[in-house]
Order: sequence, then structure tokens, then C-alpha cells
Amino acid sequence: MGLIELLSQRDPEVCRMISDEARRQANTLELIASENHVSPAVMHTMGSWLTNKYAEGYPGKRYYGGCEHHDTIEDLARDRAKELFGCGFANVQPHSGANANIAAFMALLSPGDRILSLPIKSGGHLSHGLKPNFSGTFFDIVEYDLDPDTELLDYDQIARLAQEHKPRMIICGYSAYPRVIDFARFRQIADSVDACLMADIAHIAGLVASGVHPSPFPHAHVVTTTTHKTLRGPRGGLILSNDEEIAKKVDRKVFPGSQGGPLMHVIAAKAVAFGEALAPEFKTYSRQVVDNASALATALAERGYRLCSGGTDNHLMLVDLRGRNEDLTGADAEGWLESAGIIVNKNGIPNDPRPPMVTSGLRLGTPALTTRGFKQEQMAQVAELLDRVMVSQGDPDETAAVKADVETMCSSFPMPH
Ligand SMILES: *Cc1c(COP(=O)(O)O)cnc(C)c1O
Repeated sequence: MGLIELLSQRDPEVCRMISDEARRQANTLELIASENHVSPAVMHTMGSWLTNKYAEGYPGKRYYGGCEHHDTIEDLARDRAKELFGCGFANVQPHSGANANIAAFMALLSPGDRILSLPIKSGGHLSHGLKPNFSGTFFDIVEYDLDPDTELLDYDQIARLAQEHKPRMIICGYSAYPRVIDFARFRQIADSVDACLMADIAHIAGLVASGVHPSPFPHAHVVTTTTHKTLRGPRGGLILSNDEEIAKKVDRKVFPGSQGGPLMHVIAAKAVAFGEALAPEFKTYSRQVVDNASALATALAERGYRLCSGGTDNHLMLVDLRGRNEDLTGADAEGWLESAGIIVNKNGIPNDPRPPMVTSGLRLGTPALTTRGFKQEQMAQVAELLDRVMVSQGDPDETAAVKADVETMCSSFPMPH
């Protein structure tokens, strides 16, 4: 019996809510850069028998009986992760990307140690040192920033700040940076002050696994990532390294350091997703993600939007709406576009004069639409639909007309099934 059929009998209320969400996903254009559509194999593995079991510990060293199959599954997930990223160690237990970062910090730092990182307002992640987050609470954060003119990483500035502040850790890897990261240069800077280098590749993991973005190995001491963004797996985290000492510490800091029982149903789904990412088709997919982002950026620039840093090398772009019309805000755009079935998130642009709940920009990404089979041609159409909504300033008639066009498009590109 399928999930919907089962739930319609057992819990019609939840069934209706889940069905509504499935329909929403099928009938809208998903442009949130951190989201994707998983395969049915990944999705159903998350709903499997593995959710019933406690498996605290690691394969061969569990605190509960009955873990023999959990051991083989976790071993397989770890082996596939190592093969995918070309490294010697993987911990597949972190519940999320933020949890992976907690464990990595605990493995490499003591409370009060100094971290040099990019702030969230410039494209970093809240777990890299935002004040209300654990990272900003327990560590001494020094920020580097993008070059205000080019909106690119300014490696000379990072090297200078490292010399001046002598951090214990330097973090690279971001949530809203559209360009290639020079991991080798980061390692050089880290070595110059005897700091460790952490690469958080949460966004670009799928591109890295496919060779479409350079790998953080052999440069980073520790690599953290999510599994649910460009990697197209279940929601979760992953920690990688090539250093045996760091590996031992990471294992201890994930469990018992910061988590209890692992989500074994999610770990099994990670193994399935890693298997999918090892197949040749995934490279083709990742290349298409980047080609689509490039096509979307070009089409938007042609309509007068300003792309931060001038464009994109990866799966996402930051669009400065003021290029099109000085009065446009990210908050208005996000709301209008949602009414038209185009799902995006507002995002501050570097040195945004507007507050974080308003912003002047949108962050757009192509992983989800590429999963549905969109190519460059459709990206040009998406740019046109988006622009119609912006030009009409969210006019209800035009928004409804765009929504109808969105639904027609969606019906030609079904969800993974
Ligand atoms: C998404 C993201 C994370 C956190 O992922 P969660 O699973 O939401 O905790 C961490 N780091 C970066 C750079 C991210 O973009």
C-alpha cells in the first residue's frame, strides 16, 4: 500500500496536509538554492524499518543489541561517502549540517578559541559565528568580508586578518556565494598562522562529488556538509577528513559529544543517495545544474537585473533587484513570486542597505528544477516569468496569468517518480 492510500485510511487529517504539500511541490517552480527533489528510492528508505532502532555508538561498537544490519548499512554509507569525496574518513551520523559543524568545532577547538569566518550578511552560514548561534556563543569570532567592489573573496585581506588575529580555525564554504572557492589558497593562509582549515561544502557538495567544483581535499583538515542540497540526499549532515587523529576526535564529538542515537533510517537513505551520486548520470546532472544557473543568470542580466559578482560559477546566484527597478525589495519579490508559483528566498546582497527581513536581493538556485529535467531553454522562460511578476509589481491579474503558465510548465516536467 502506498503512503497516501495508507494514511487516507489511518489519518485523513495528516494525509490531506501531506497530499497538499506534494501537490504544491509538483505545481510550483522550486528555485531555493538549498533545496532539491530526492528520488523515490531515497524518500522511501527514510520511511523504512530502520527508524525503529537505537544504534548508539559505531559499527561493531554499539550500546544496544540487535544492530548487525545497522552496522552493515552504516559501514556501506561511510564507504560510499569516502569513495564519493576521495577521502579516508567519513562520519555519517550528524543529524544536520549545523550539527556536523558543532561536532567539528568540538573536535578541533576549545571554548573561547578564535575562528575567522565570513558573516551571514555576506553569504556565510549562521553556524559559522552568528551571535545567537552556538558558534557565536562559545567561540571568539573574527570576520572577513568580500571585496566591496568585486563582491569576491579577498584572499589578501583574509591572509592579513589571519596574521593579525591568529585564529585557531579558518572557515571557508558558504550559503550564498556564487563563485569558485580556492581551497589551496585558504590552506596556505591557514598554514601561515598554524590554524586548521574547515571547509563547509553544504551547498556545493554535489558539485564537488561530480568534479564540477574543485575538491576541498587535500587542502581542508576537516570537511563538513549537508546531504540534502546539491547532493540530493535525505536531510542530514556528514563530516569528512583525511587526518586519522582528527577522525578519532570527530567520531567522539558526534557521539557521545553532541548527539544520542543516530537516525539510522536517514543513514540508510544517505547510503542510497551516495550510491546515486556515484553513478555517471549524477555528473551529467551536476553539469546541467551549473549550465542552467549560468543560463538563468544570463537571461536575468539581459533583462536588467544585476548579478552580484557579475554572474555565477556554481548552482546559485544572488540577484540585486535594484538593477531592474530601484524600488524592488527582496521581501516584496518573494511574496509576489510565491503567488505566481515561483518559490524563492529573499537574500541580503553584500553591503545591503536594507534590513535582513526586507533585503534588496533574491538568492536563486537550479538544483531542484534541474532534477525535474529543466534545461537552458526553460531557464530563459523562467527568467521571463519572474520578470513579468516584477514588472507588474505583483499585480494580481498578471500574477494569476504567470501562475497558469508555471503550472503548464510543471505538467511537462514531472517530479521524480
Ligand atoms: C545549509 C547550510 C548548513 C546547515 O545545514 P542544516 O542542515 O540546515 O543545519 C551549514 N552550512 C552551510 C554553509 C549551509 O549552507
